[in-house]
Amino acid sequence: MEGIVDSHTHVSLLPYEGLENMALAGVKKIIGCAIFFGAKHAETLFDHFHQMSTLSVKNAAENGIKLFLAVGIHPMGTPEDWPRVIDALPGYLKMNDVVGLGEIGLHEGSRREQDVLKEQLKVAKEHRVPVILHTPPQDRVKITNKTIEIAAAVGMEPGKVIIDHANLDIIHLIEDFGAVPGLTIRQEGLTPHLLLNHLERFQRGVLNSDYSNLKPNDPLSVPKAVRYLELNGVPLEIIARIARYNAEKVFGIQTTGSTTHY
Ligand SMILES: [Zn+2]
Repeated sequence: MEGIVDSHTHVSLLPYEGLENMALAGVKKIIGCAIFFGAKHAETLFDHFHQMSTLSVKNAAENGIKLFLAVGIHPMGTPEDWPRVIDALPGYLKMNDVVGLGEIGLHEGSRREQDVLKEQLKVAKEHRVPVILHTPPQDRVKITNKTIEIAAAVGMEPGKVIIDHANLDIIHLIEDFGAVPGLTIRQEGLTPHLLLNHLERFQRGVLNSDYSNLKPNDPLSVPKAVRYLELNGVPLEIIARIARYNAEKVFGIQTTGSTTHY
């Protein structure tokens, strides 16, 4: 299909050839999410955001991919002086390619993680930008409930909340809140097969690879899932929704004809 959007990729960890292969497989737009595992200082994240907005944007463009960015504090890399990052976020949101905050959220669910998430959601709400929220591999229902509770308390518009790594265990919680399910395609999570068998429940979602070096990942998982659905006779309209249009709408990155509105 035309114009695939990968709605969650950690581009700073993606090799140049990864971008090239994604382009060859039909990926046209990527949302590059922040993550710096074990970050200890605010400056570490500032340098990380800078690298994404320069090198990664350039590498993507050289392959014909438009890279948009989401910045923020990932729960696996929260600096000791994290309030300084919060203070800087509105400045980043003014940058051209930055379309939201992510990847943010709870991993273990500690009080500190909850505070960091809440402060970031306040920034997102004030600036009316979407957020990409992490869900962990463990305690998923409990932590997703807590995440939604915090988002609701801050007053986030549910349509601007992507709850990522959705699967059958938490999809009802995401639906009840009215958030957008992030559909990370990987072997030990939501597989193309599972997606096909429960497509009805996942159609409001946005496909992504969540490419990183934290676990085995495949930068081509989105085009591969698209191909799997096509080969199994899923109507193109439904595939296009989860592989392109839902993400374009949430992030406000629609392309009309030959004119692109960012
Ligand atoms: Zn991620």
